[in-house]
Amino acid sequence: KKKPSEFDPITVAWWEKGEPVPFLFLSLAFDMISEESSRITMTDIVCNLLRSVIYATPEDLLPVVYLSANRIAPPHEGLELGIGKASIIKALAEACGRTEKHITQHYKDLGDLGLVVKASRLAQSMLRKPAALTITKVFNTFRLIAKESGKDSREKKKNHIKSLLLAATDCEPLYLIRLLQKELRIGYAEKTLLSALGQAAVYSEEHSKPPPEIQSPLEEAAEIVKQVYSVLPDYEKIVCALLKDGVWQLPKTCNFTPGVPVGPMLSKPITSVSEAVNKFKDVGFTCEYKYDGERAQIHYMENGSVEIYSRNAERNTDKFPDVAAAVSRLKKRTVSSFVLDCEIVAYDRTKQKILPLQVLSTRARKNVAVSDIKVDVCIFAFDLLYLNGQALLQENLKIRREHLYASFEEESGFLQFATSMTSNNAEEMQKFLDEAVDASCEGLIIKTLNKDATYEPSQRSLNWLKLKKDYLKKIGDTLDLVPIGAFHGRGQRAGVYGAFLLACYDNDKEEFQTICKTGTGFSEEELDESFASLGSKMIPKPKAYYRHAEKIKPDVWFEATEVWEVKASDLTNSRVYQAAMGLVYSDKGISLRCPRLIRVRHDKAPEQASSSEMVAEMYRAQKQNHPEQMEDNN
Ligand code: ATP
Repeated sequence: KKKPSEFDPITVAWWEKGEPVPFLFLSLAFDMISEESSRITMTDIVCNLLRSVIYATPEDLLPVVYLSANRIAPPHEGLELGIGKASIIKALAEACGRTEKHITQHYKDLGDLGLVVKASRLAQSMLRKPAALTITKVFNTFRLIAKESGKDSREKKKNHIKSLLLAATDCEPLYLIRLLQKELRIGYAEKTLLSALGQAAVYSEEHSKPPPEIQSPLEEAAEIVKQVYSVLPDYEKIVCALLKDGVWQLPKTCNFTPGVPVGPMLSKPITSVSEAVNKFKDVGFTCEYKYDGERAQIHYMENGSVEIYSRNAERNTDKFPDVAAAVSRLKKRTVSSFVLDCEIVAYDRTKQKILPLQVLSTRARKNVAVSDIKVDVCIFAFDLLYLNGQALLQENLKIRREHLYASFEEESGFLQFATSMTSNNAEEMQKFLDEAVDASCEGLIIKTLNKDATYEPSQRSLNWLKLKKDYLKKIGDTLDLVPIGAFHGRGQRAGVYGAFLLACYDNDKEEFQTICKTGTGFSEEELDESFASLGSKMIPKPKAYYRHAEKIKPDVWFEATEVWEVKASDLTNSRVYQAAMGLVYSDKGISLRCPRLIRVRHDKAPEQASSSEMVAEMYRAQKQNHPEQMEDNN
């Protein structure tokens, strides 16, 4: 049998045409990718894998794509596997005929359940094998696991895992465990999968030849799929459309639509008004207050239903029934559907004042009843992405804003448009920044208005700049970091963690890189809370995808689960910390000076922590703006 990379989908069949795709085919492809460092070769492997599926069993393309992305549904569906380590250990013990104690010990030695299962295969191979695993079997079982709820759900989940393990051979058990833990991490990002899908479609295209203007079909198809996914991040819709009408039709068949949230457009930090004036001197721009609350994308469907999505594309509708009611009431009559981009902020309606983010955080997160709401919120609307059946993403902000202003009635304390000012005078901008801070805002977001001013989903764009309060003058912004280890406290802090080891995330290398150690900033109460929440996420060894120097030895290691906002006085180069290693200096990383913990960011996943690229950029900017203060720090 040929390996997936060598497979010619037309002449050689790894499995019979029309038969279900074996899970082994995908596992072998994962194995090959994990040994590859070249992105081009990785894309080729995934492309061949997908070509084979499209050729032989197109109905399996969607589960193959989902499993390759280590997902079982789009984030807005909220379907998560929800399996703890304990269930996997139990299932493993039963599947291998070993005791849980034995497996737990083995896990402590190896530090990775994937490696435990790999090493356990021999014991398991004595058992009689059930039918070989197929992609659909694995995918459907994963979805079943996610949907199990209620009293016996833990037991049921464990049994599903066990049945999969019992049927697994070769390298399948390893990838089953990795997928179940959402830790595939074989070194390729979603971008690679999307490119490969576009290329595979070109090879498999039966519907139509590329239009004559297409010069390089493979590259252009890859771009089309990536572009379409950025406005419609839903594999089911894209795969169905691709199989039905082909890749060249995708821009027509797959569009931004209410009900599927796009990644929010993000901004880049700057440290002074003059920086914005310089960057935008040739284009029109506008300044808006930067409100400190929760980003929300509010979707209003033609049938009158409302959905509210978080920055993370998670469904937040149940958390904000008052927001859903406010937008329905305050939209103008002529408006039949819309997608609104806004910040939801805690608000005191009597004093007509914005309240701090900490107040908003006290609101319950699930199944809120309007009658129980104690903290009122105001919607500060700053963008309109869709109106009456039309996507506005490609319009300039000036036009989007006109539509926004024309589509809603403002009502103080319920829905207000973000306060804005259009001027390119540095003094006026500085004054506006001060006013924003006086009005309890974090600073300004400065945006291009009529040129290069389209809405760029999921992009941290240079067309939106954030300028925070004066105290962030030097580095411009706080960082969002992941606690991956901790040091036991002493004295007053005995019994809780004294300091944490924090990491940023490198998207290309798919690894968490240590950046600093800190224990200051959190209150006693917050420290107790983190002790409790992280305590259950302890792991015996650092993950293979944690990059840290041997010198730093925390007392405990954690799974990467939380994101904490951290304020620092400045950035410094470091021989100990590994953040952005190779991006600024070949032999040194970047670290933070005087880091202080600000808050837990519930709206960010660990992979959305500050990126190494961003850390490197902030360091370079600091070096440029404050050369006199840069010094070597080992
Ligand atoms: P942070 O919120 O810590 O600054 P972030 O990574 O969540 O970081 P950024 O792009 O850095 O996002 O900052 C933009 C955020 O500011 C948006 O996500 C949004 O929640 C908030 N915001 C407040 N007011 C505005 C506004 N007028 N326009 C755009 N975003 C705004």
